[in-house]
Amino acid sequence: MIIDGKQIAQQLREEMREQVAELSRLYGRKPCLDVILVGENPASMAYVKNKIKATEFCGFDGELIQLPATTSQGELLRVISELNENEAVDGILVQLPLPKHIDEQRVIEAIAPEKDVDGFHPSNVAKIWLNQPAIVPCTPLGIIALLENSGTVFEGRRSVVVGRSNIVGKPIAKLLLDRNCTVTIAHSRTANLAEVCREADILVVAVGRPQMITGDMVKPGATVIDVGINRTQDGRIVGDVDFESVAPVAGAITPVPGGVGPMTITMLMRNTIECYKKRINK
Ligand code: NAP
Repeated sequence: MIIDGKQIAQQLREEMREQVAELSRLYGRKPCLDVILVGENPASMAYVKNKIKATEFCGFDGELIQLPATTSQGELLRVISELNENEAVDGILVQLPLPKHIDEQRVIEAIAPEKDVDGFHPSNVAKIWLNQPAIVPCTPLGIIALLENSGTVFEGRRSVVVGRSNIVGKPIAKLLLDRNCTVTIAHSRTANLAEVCREADILVVAVGRPQMITGDMVKPGATVIDVGINRTQDGRIVGDVDFESVAPVAGAITPVPGGVGPMTITMLMRNTIECYKKRINK
């Protein structure tokens, strides 16, 4: 089975659009997401464009704040501080990466945790690991939604996450643990990676190396989630999983593009709605 992230994402966005219309009628205002883009990194500009398109589809308010690459850290922090104080703003997203002269962690920590729609603020990260209500990063949330939508059973299953980044590997491992999977986290120093991967009923790959997981590394019938987005020399987008050799072995697999990517943006919409609802109910 191919897990069609594009279709699942579209369905969820349509549901959210209805929910937003209803919430706006009830509370007299729409959820508001402001996006800050510093500089003109082409990949970041493309991501931001897709995010704005999704906010428009879902019926949010919001502003794209475009700042020049020369913006100082102080200036960026001032913009964030104003958005933190602005009662009309529910979510603040600073598109990463930032220009080299800006300390990314300092910027993430400047966003009010209750408006941190990316779920990167240390307060949200800590709460996730303490099993407290928190804003969960969008990509891991999207992966769980894909798995749930495709009828994956979690309880008691072996899952292997390849990659241990703060934005994907670690949080998805925690979300799988919360659903009673037995979780292994693999990384660049893992010995016998193929053997470890073959233990997985659910294999999540977030490495950033084109097509590194091949059919011989996958347990027959496993569910394989490919988070990777890599551009080949001839301009194609491929995942971290070699779709051609893995698809015949896997029970279910996400394609790239059209798998995790659209779900990440959809979960950004969901997080913004959640922030809005919490702020309305305060
Ligand atoms: P990252 O921060 O660069 O982390 C990569 C991880 O992969 C690290 O933990 C690294 O291990 C591990 N790794 C590297 N080489 C390896 C190897 N040969 N064997 C096993 N593990 C290895 O990357 P990320 O931010 O998590 O992103 C991963 C990929 O997902 C990228 O392609 C990115 O573009 C994509 N991505 C997609 C979405 C989406 O919405 N679809 C969202 C986020 C990211 P060490 O820790 O030992 O170095």
